[in-house]
Amino acid sequence: MNEDKTFSFELFPPKTEKGFENLRRNVLVLNERRPAFFSCTYGAGGSTRDNTFATVDWLRSQGIDTAPHLTCIGNSIAETLGILERYKGQGIHRIVALRGDRPSGTGIGGGDLSYASELVALIREHFGDHFHIEVAAYPEMHPQAPNFLADLDNFRIKVEAGADSAITQYFYNVDAYEHFVEQCRQRGIGIPIVPGIMPITNYSSLARFSDACGAEIPRWIRKRLEAYGDDSASIRAFGADVVTALCEKLLAAGAPGLHFYTMNQAAPTLEIWDRLGI
Ligand code: FAD
Repeated sequence: MNEDKTFSFELFPPKTEKGFENLRRNVLVLNERRPAFFSCTYGAGGSTRDNTFATVDWLRSQGIDTAPHLTCIGNSIAETLGILERYKGQGIHRIVALRGDRPSGTGIGGGDLSYASELVALIREHFGDHFHIEVAAYPEMHPQAPNFLADLDNFRIKVEAGADSAITQYFYNVDAYEHFVEQCRQRGIGIPIVPGIMPITNYSSLARFSDACGAEIPRWIRKRLEAYGDDSASIRAFGADVVTALCEKLLAAGAPGLHFYTMNQAAPTLEIWDRLGI
């Protein structure tokens, strides 16, 4: 049932040697499952540039299919093209093209591109079909969009600029994903839209992050997680049940694959993976 689907893992670039050691150990375990690719995030305005490069360089040295994320906000076109040339030279064929967020207080400003659609167009203009371009999608709406329909229109513009497929922000409502995909299809947006899956391992950090990125944790899940307090074993066990059930429903509903936000930890993702029998 899952043979034609794309399963992938997301990493973030560590800041310390200890973090890199942890990443290398976890990637080698995850890679035994033969994912389609590993992606690696990039801090807007180049804030993680060197660490993203170091992570990408190591993944490539292991012969691993790698999809670097690239944000455009705060960067010049020349810088952006330079990074893409670097990746092309490393035999990379997949990019996750994003706008990024302006971190408050960093002073990142200016930049030549304002939206991910402009980055997608730039990549197509300079690199033709060399890169498979992934873009971000928001089944529960991007938090800064004026409304859901405007966000869908903007998503369509990004796809028409040349995106090949999309990865969603994480969510815990299957209905939101199905509705979003249906609305896309009605507008002639035919690209694969792969759900982003966030394993649940820690309630307070998940709640904080979800507020910031506009992902809803349904009340019944929140209340259960809150009730566990500091009992991290119960949070993990309940989280694995909830997220495995979410993935099963998504795959049964026709999702073209799953993209796991691993947070550089193999175990929570692999528990779900194994229970799904991928
Ligand atoms: P866009 O597609 O440009 O959309 C941003 C907002 O602008 C939306 O509200 C949209 O409706 C609106 N908009 C788009 N086009 C127009 C237009 N022409 N006119 C008016 N409004 C418009 N962030 C990082 O910093 N680094 C990462 O590595 C990273 N990886 C991510 C991976 C995934 C899978 C996802 C889902 C998100 C990731 N993010 C990352 C977060 C992302 O950068 C933020 O969510 C950001 O706020 C929006 O990026 P975008 O590419 O979706 O932007």
